[in-house]
Amino acid sequence: MSDKSKVIIVGAGIYGMSTALWMLEEGGYDVTILDRAETLPAPDAASCDLNKVTTAPITSSGLGNLVIATNDLRTPTADLLYPASAALRLCSSPPEQHSHKPLTRADHSRRRLRRPIPRSACCRRGGPLASGVIALAHPTMPGGQKFVSSAYTNCLSMGISAQLVTSSSDIRAKFPGEVRTGSFGDRVGYANPKGGWAEAGRATLVGLERVQKLGGKVLPGKEVVGMIKQGREVRGVRVKGGEEIRGDLVVVCAGAWTPGLFALPEVKIKLPKIEATGQSLAILQLTPEEQVKYAQVPVIFNLDDGWYIFPPNADGLVKMAIHAPGYTNPIPLSSSGGEDDIVSVPRTKLTPGAEDGMIPREMLARLRRGLAEVYPELQDREYVQTRLCWYCDTHTGDWLIDYHPDFDNLVVATGDSGHAFKYAPIIGREILRIIKREPIPEVGAKWSFGDRPTDDTGADHRDGVRQVLRVEDLARAEDLKVPVGITVAA
Ligand SMILES: Cc1cc2nc3c(=O)[nH]c(=O)nc-3n(C[C@H](O)[C@H](O)[C@H](O)COP(=O)(O)OP(=O)(O)OC[C@H]3O[C@@H](n4cnc5c(N)ncnc54)[C@H](O)[C@@H]3O)c2cc1C
Repeated sequence: MSDKSKVIIVGAGIYGMSTALWMLEEGGYDVTILDRAETLPAPDAASCDLNKVTTAPITSSGLGNLVIATNDLRTPTADLLYPASAALRLCSSPPEQHSHKPLTRADHSRRRLRRPIPRSACCRRGGPLASGVIALAHPTMPGGQKFVSSAYTNCLSMGISAQLVTSSSDIRAKFPGEVRTGSFGDRVGYANPKGGWAEAGRATLVGLERVQKLGGKVLPGKEVVGMIKQGREVRGVRVKGGEEIRGDLVVVCAGAWTPGLFALPEVKIKLPKIEATGQSLAILQLTPEEQVKYAQVPVIFNLDDGWYIFPPNADGLVKMAIHAPGYTNPIPLSSSGGEDDIVSVPRTKLTPGAEDGMIPREMLARLRRGLAEVYPELQDREYVQTRLCWYCDTHTGDWLIDYHPDFDNLVVATGDSGHAFKYAPIIGREILRIIKREPIPEVGAKWSFGDRPTDDTGADHRDGVRQVLRVEDLARAEDLKVPVGITVAA
């Protein structure tokens, strides 16, 4: 019999995948990842996306230090983001497939690790990871300005030679001459030449394949609906259909589904206030000529209203999104009708009736406005896809990674608050440190169940008010087509 500690990880997003990798690299753990989705990465997981910013503006010093660690190629998993980026050149699939071939139930026992492609073989200007990120805010928006200025200072203190951009001509100078830009909404900020992006779904897939290669199990189609509790122990989990899977340690990495999971009648375990919030994104398709023209543009991130846009990927797809307070989708999870049983639950393309991925009309209009301010030539382009992608939000933006206070072997690792992807290579190391009760001092308290800070810790900034999602407010297919009446001065 194995003397390894039997670990059940619930959720195959980057929290679960990275934790498994660090455990398997270290040895001494027999790891099984369970995920509710039939194909992995789950098509509706936050981690499974066309692309994510990998060096977004960070103001929290603890997180800043972790960014440095992420960029440190000596960490065994740091290259996770590189094969993901390299894949950009290879993919030719429609957006629906997120440019990768997912693991399915049938695949889970097979090892299908692709060889990482050398970064040098695929990258222009240092590769997608170094497309550059320009962080902006309008001078009259104090919250955004404060975030930009502390993120800029943080860049400098991390040794990144960020440059201030104090006029639209300064910003324009960061773009290739042939790209016509708008006025950027009269925003100012800084340019981080080291910033960039990676292909998120592909990175998650590469990581899950590596978990399998190292001997971990990755099991799709296993939706956890119950916990087997005995005193202060969780002996294992129960999955939909009744199967029980037992282990010595349960690590819940269920992202935005975590609050809903913990409120289920067969789980019923209290959590601090964390909430699933739906965030809006849209994708447009460039022509091959436009793809070449826009290939060298940086990521633009408006930190006052949260709007941001990527360069085109290898298929000419351009994603834009809004980092906003977002939308909740409150659902009663038991018949008791108690307030604690009404929980915001992700409404995704895998939710019956929501397959079209529509976002609220208001967000569609904001996405278009942002686009017109940056790339006026693209402002009336049809969107080929929209999606509500779900954060697990904490109050301050600091993650929730700790042992549950009521159990000796239950760890909760979530609360990404919309900014954890960039830590995919090392977040598992931090989760493992916490599992071993050796958290790094900068973040241990911030991420704990205990006395978490309630004031602004600098980890996040968002403008606006959180709203409840109403199906009647969602856009319709015709709204994705050419809009009427948007004109913004270039
Ligand atoms: C629109 C959008 C844009 C973002 N942009 C960025 C960015 O540019 N840069 C950045 O750093 N971060 C970004 N993020 C945040 C980043 O995506 C998340 O921080 C990260 O992916 C969270 O990973 P996770 O593992 O916690 O959750 P997820 O990736 O959502 O994974 C959770 C997994 O748990 C599974 N699961 C849930 N419930 C159960 C259950 N009961 N049983 C079994 N399995 C279950 C799900 O199927 C899913 O696979 C963005 C997020 C969104 C939504």
